[in-house]
Amino acid sequence: MNASLSSNNSLENDLAFDIEAVRRDFPILSQSISGHPLVYLDNGASTQKPQCVIDTVSNYYENDNANVHRGIHELSQRATDRFEAARSTVRKFINAESDAEIIFTSGTTEAINLVAHSYGLGHLSKGDEVLISAMEHHSNIVPWQLLSQQMGLELKIIPITLAGELDYPAFLELLGPKTKLLAITQLSNALGSITPLKEMIDAAHAVNAKVLVDGAQAIAHTKVDVRALDCDFYAFSGHKIFSPTGIGILYGKRELLESMPPYQSGGDMIKVVSFSGTTFNELPYKFEAGTPNIAGSIGLAAGIDYVTKLGIENIAAHEHTVLEYATEKMLAIDGLRIIGTAKDKAGVLSFEIDGVHAADLGTLLDHQGVAVRVGHHCAMPVMEFFGVSSTTRASLALYNNTADIDALVTATVKAAEMLA
Ligand code: PMP
Repeated sequence: MNASLSSNNSLENDLAFDIEAVRRDFPILSQSISGHPLVYLDNGASTQKPQCVIDTVSNYYENDNANVHRGIHELSQRATDRFEAARSTVRKFINAESDAEIIFTSGTTEAINLVAHSYGLGHLSKGDEVLISAMEHHSNIVPWQLLSQQMGLELKIIPITLAGELDYPAFLELLGPKTKLLAITQLSNALGSITPLKEMIDAAHAVNAKVLVDGAQAIAHTKVDVRALDCDFYAFSGHKIFSPTGIGILYGKRELLESMPPYQSGGDMIKVVSFSGTTFNELPYKFEAGTPNIAGSIGLAAGIDYVTKLGIENIAAHEHTVLEYATEKMLAIDGLRIIGTAKDKAGVLSFEIDGVHAADLGTLLDHQGVAVRVGHHCAMPVMEFFGVSSTTRASLALYNNTADIDALVTATVKAAEMLA
């Protein structure tokens, strides 16, 4: 074993933040499950919330709750100020140019559907090609399949390699004058693979295609700078970054958003409504029909502030160390195969064990307090490619430490012995 991996203490002493203090920030982590301390390794599905996010949301409901943008009274103004301040926090976090480019959605799924419907219906036509990869989450597959059927588009799939990496030469071959949109994940939820995003965006732009990035997994693990990436759209969910469920973001370049028709219609997205015609509100409100998730957006800003305080680069470095530690320890288990061995990967360890059903393994891990996800991870084409129906996935967040991994290893060994 590598000396630097031999002792938990030496690993965690190198940290730029105090991992024990960080763990104490997340009240849910201190509970027991089936008599064992909870080891939460299902962060790819959803992350836990620090006390500051919980307090921010309850403080909002206790003190400032009202509808936004409509009221002249004090509470409505406070709610509006906090809602719009949250938008600015998101804008700064991903380095967008303007608050008008930050649209609150219910999550990544809605953000992708917004682009599919609005950009798709407004800018794509029969015979145009949309490119996605073979490692996408269903949320970044099915909207494009439906749109292709409705509009007669061609959906092309960038293959992946046996390591679970995007096949870049194949991508370049698929790109052509008919390619109008590339919709690509930054980090695969099933494999942990990181895609070569900047190169892909530049290559897509060279053929005048637009690029939507599915940042659902990446947002809590890596620095995102939409202007440096030069992506046209970027989607993510609050609940994957220590924030409430039901809130998400679509970033879009202003001129593109301006050129797109509304996605949903109703209150707040209009300027004037009359039976002779309706004019639409300016950005970002044109895409925010109805009462938004005000508490969620304020909670998201608190989650982002928390991450910013720790430093996303520090978080990434910590998770990288824990992932390497986990990979080495898990590979020592008899019959265990890791699915997704990309050179550039983050946060995710998907595996299977000879002769062991993932669902049985997941249940026995749960009995030992270890929360992982088993199944197809909403990425059935990835499972098909690797010839498995499901995997067991441990996915990391900033509060996971090597003790969590030791608990995972011990529980997995015990479960595999029982199931053998
Ligand atoms: N894309 C990826 C890569 C994901 O991991 C997920 C969530 N598992 C989604 C999209 C969808 O996110 P949400 O369910 O929050 O809309």
